[in-house]
Amino acid sequence: MDNTKTLGLVGHPIEHSLSPAMHNAVFRGLGLDCRYVVFDVRRGELERFIKSSKEKDIIGLNVTIPHKVEVIGYVDKLSREAELIGAINTMKFNKKVVGYNTDGIGCVRALNEAGVSLKDKKVLILGAGGAARAIGFQCVLEGATVSISNREVERDMAVSLAADIEKKLNKKCDVVDFNVEKIKESLKKTDILINATPVGMYPKTDESVVPAEIIPKTVRVMDIVYNPMETKLLREAKKRGCKTIDGVGMLVHQGAESLKIWLGIDAPIETMRDAVTERLKS
Ligand code: NAP
Repeated sequence: MDNTKTLGLVGHPIEHSLSPAMHNAVFRGLGLDCRYVVFDVRRGELERFIKSSKEKDIIGLNVTIPHKVEVIGYVDKLSREAELIGAINTMKFNKKVVGYNTDGIGCVRALNEAGVSLKDKKVLILGAGGAARAIGFQCVLEGATVSISNREVERDMAVSLAADIEKKLNKKCDVVDFNVEKIKESLKKTDILINATPVGMYPKTDESVVPAEIIPKTVRVMDIVYNPMETKLLREAKKRGCKTIDGVGMLVHQGAESLKIWLGIDAPIETMRDAVTERLKS
């Protein structure tokens, strides 16, 4: 009989995900009888998939695009973070199905690991999508003040994220116009800048969400894009003398938090990071 515990990632498209390499390296390293697999599930097929997962021996799932919000409808309970953020990236199947979100805490742990604390800091987040939501809420929970800047589109996501944070956490949250002059002004009173847009991601690696010349060297610069590990934004900010934090740390720490939820283990961070960087270099 197969006693191996199954964990996995559900989303679409997911063929290039680094999560199986990262999690399976932990299972091999710790000698755990577990496997992490990907489930390529398209929009419209999620409900059926979750129902069948409950019947199989799957103990937990990571959830990614496009299902992070829809999946809320298929859990019995939400963690505080998932409820605040309004999206799930981790599910645990037990008698009850519980939904969590480890993206925000993953980002905070990566900053902490780099010696950057959030308490009483001013954070400027570029982008207002799923990752920015998770990061915005978690930074406020950690005692930071957050400003958000998102490019103009019909639906103003920055305004709605700021309003949501203000309403749910009772903490003022500014919206900064997405133009170089306004962002430059805001950076003068910013401690930590976080790029939560896909700008700079492979293959468009010659793009940067803002020109590094406008970033004072006292600002800590984090890019949550992890492919390439050193984006143009980070490379140029580093040249100016800024401390920089890459997106691999967030990826690894959100995964480690998921492992804690599923298996109750303190995952070996270096093993996870090595597995990810090895894949990124290949
Ligand atoms: P998302 O929900 O699609 O949000 C993307 C955000 O970026 C939106 O606010 C979007 O603005 C903005 N944006 C997109 N293209 C832009 C451009 N050319 N210029 C300026 N803004 C732009 O995506 P997400 O899930 O938040 O992910 C964002 C990035 O973070 C992705 O690259 C993803 O791979 C990465 N990520 C990394 C980790 C990690 O662990 N390191 C975790 C999650 C995500 P509009 O609203 O105007 O479209």
